[in-house]
Amino acid sequence: MGKVYLTGAGPGDIELLTVKALRVVKEADVIIYDRLANPEILKEAKNGCEFIYVGKEDSHHTLPQEEINEAIYQAALKYENVVRLKGGDPFVFGRGGEEGIYLRERNIRFEFIPGVTSAIAVPEYAGIPVTHRGITVSFRVVTGHESKNKDQSQIPWENYKSDDTIIFLMGLHRLKVICRKLIGIGKPKEYPVAVISKGTTAEAKTVVGTLEDIYEKAKDLPTPALIVVGEVVKLREQLSWFEKA
Ligand code: SAH
Repeated sequence: MGKVYLTGAGPGDIELLTVKALRVVKEADVIIYDRLANPEILKEAKNGCEFIYVGKEDSHHTLPQEEINEAIYQAALKYENVVRLKGGDPFVFGRGGEEGIYLRERNIRFEFIPGVTSAIAVPEYAGIPVTHRGITVSFRVVTGHESKNKDQSQIPWENYKSDDTIIFLMGLHRLKVICRKLIGIGKPKEYPVAVISKGTTAEAKTVVGTLEDIYEKAKDLPTPALIVVGEVVKLREQLSWFEKA
């Protein structure tokens, strides 16, 4: 029986892959990868390595998680070195925990390899620090993708009154609702918001606005995209470095 490396691929820029992730990719007999993992990484694999794509689109899962779990398990029965390559970090809305539990229940050995999460690195490439002395003392990473039952919000909006930076992943299609909810709990309409699309890649694009106007400005940006809400967004005026104007 093989061993599975539940591996973070980083947010896009291939150079943000960790040294450890690169090592297991080079040694892999099979790589099971996501839509969000930069496909350039696969070129680092050895000759004869098998590739299995289990990509998920933003709004629908092309493969249900249960089938992905099973595909990883089957790969571990067949091969010695199995790499499960996931965008960003495996534990940040990456379902790495579920995959680990599935494998543990079947006595498959595994390791987790952390990755650079988009939640922090994508704002960083846009010149937006998630914390900044004198501006904010904490940040939250929240899913913008809620359960299908629209009447029941899982997000405790009332908790978001503080000045924490809020980073919404998987939220672009709900940008309008998110802004409305934040205004609804008392945040000023002029409160700064950024939407960053394809962060850390050559196609990266950042749009800055307010809770009131960001939807109109950013609604057509391509995914993957994340939303940053907070005063730290203004620091981009001084810290922008990556995107060409
Ligand atoms: N485990 C991943 C996140 C998975 S959820 C991580 O740690 O980064 C997928 C969401 O991440 C997307 O919907 C988007 O909001 C965000 N995301 C991932 N890569 C991104 C990128 N390059 N640019 C902008 N957002 C990104």
